[in-house]
Amino acid sequence: MKRYHVTTFGCQMNEHDSERMKGMLESLGYMEASEPADADLILFNTCSIREKADERFVAHLRQASGLKRRDPERIIGVGGCWAQSVKDDVFRQFPFVDVAFGPGQVHKLAEFLTADSLTAQGFFEFEGVTGRLPAKRARPFQAWVQISQGCNMNCAYCIVPSTRGREVSRPLAELVAEVERLAADGVREVTLLGQNVNAYGRDLRPQRASFSQLMRALDGVPGLERVRYTSPHPKDMREDVVRAHAQLRTVCEHVHLPLQAGSSRILEAMRRTYTRERFLDRVALIREHVPDIALTTDVIVGFPGETEEDFAHTLEVCEEVGFDGAFTFVFSPRRGTEAASITEGLVAHEVAVERMQRLVEVVQRRARERAQRFVGRTLDVLVEGPSRTDPSKLRGRSRHNKAVNFTGLASPGEIVPVQIASATSQTLAGELSLLAAADAR
Ligand code: SF4
Repeated sequence: MKRYHVTTFGCQMNEHDSERMKGMLESLGYMEASEPADADLILFNTCSIREKADERFVAHLRQASGLKRRDPERIIGVGGCWAQSVKDDVFRQFPFVDVAFGPGQVHKLAEFLTADSLTAQGFFEFEGVTGRLPAKRARPFQAWVQISQGCNMNCAYCIVPSTRGREVSRPLAELVAEVERLAADGVREVTLLGQNVNAYGRDLRPQRASFSQLMRALDGVPGLERVRYTSPHPKDMREDVVRAHAQLRTVCEHVHLPLQAGSSRILEAMRRTYTRERFLDRVALIREHVPDIALTTDVIVGFPGETEEDFAHTLEVCEEVGFDGAFTFVFSPRRGTEAASITEGLVAHEVAVERMQRLVEVVQRRARERAQRFVGRTLDVLVEGPSRTDPSKLRGRSRHNKAVNFTGLASPGEIVPVQIASATSQTLAGELSLLAAADAR
């Protein structure tokens, strides 16, 4: 039996695509190897969001070329956004690569592997929706569900529209059927994936659909306990989506709402299509309907043209909102994006790094303050496995998407009540509430 190994870089969408790649390969009779050295087929699912991502991937690829020199029968494949961003140049840069494919062409890998000749080939059309391929899930009780592929936005720093194409939504009935199958197969929690989930359904014909409509349709699926989603765009965070959080049992009390910058001038330069006021207005709407909701975000520091005053606006918004968590990045120009061609007002790296330190201080302090609201409460936690920091404890996630480390006996996939004793900016700690567990039974 032939064996494969997949190394994944980047975002949740790539994790999803890798699960589909594995599911497809196993449907072809391949088996997963734990190390590239034990695999006949070595695959890399690449990311192209930041400069850094590329360097790490190249180091892995060099190792794979060494393995191929030892066994020329091995097949090396490169998929994902970086492959799509350079296309056939993959083979010029790395002549030992046998197959390259974009995020919309994972299914072509099967064609390549079952074809008679294995001459090097690249597949870069935007035609396939990876979400229709069989999946090998990392956890039996959690599943990624791709609801759309691509993005119609043009954020100046982002390469995704050029590597994943225009938005293509999957039909609502197809998604409901998939989630019904997953729930029947033991999945308790699904995460709906799209570059811009709350634009879901606008492109569907003849019958358009909406993201809130999809969440309402999933809410009744037997056995499904939790619905999460990522990423929404602030411009499309409409009242119907917010009301779904307030009204639907399965929709979790967490929204990841990327801010990127607190200055409306920089947001305009980033082509984010909303202002600081619009973002704060969306936060107010969400908290009006779900006061206890957890809000997390993404922030970029050092975008070209960012002044100290602009950055002060970013700190003000983070201070005012008090996010439960944030992913923070120093701007890095991506080849082929509008921002990469900006030469005016560039922010020196050391200035950006210093701003990042101040930002992290504000974000972590506010997240720690916000997390204290959970202390003394009993939260439902979906158990994921042993704690990463203390093997004598278990780890899971609350509906607010807070990581919880706790003492007590429970199995992965179970949803158990945990009494929260303490909170840091990142995690909550507590113990299984036997009382609440008894009441629940
Ligand atoms: S919304 Fe903007 S940042 Fe997000 S994937 Fe689309 S272009 Fe990129």
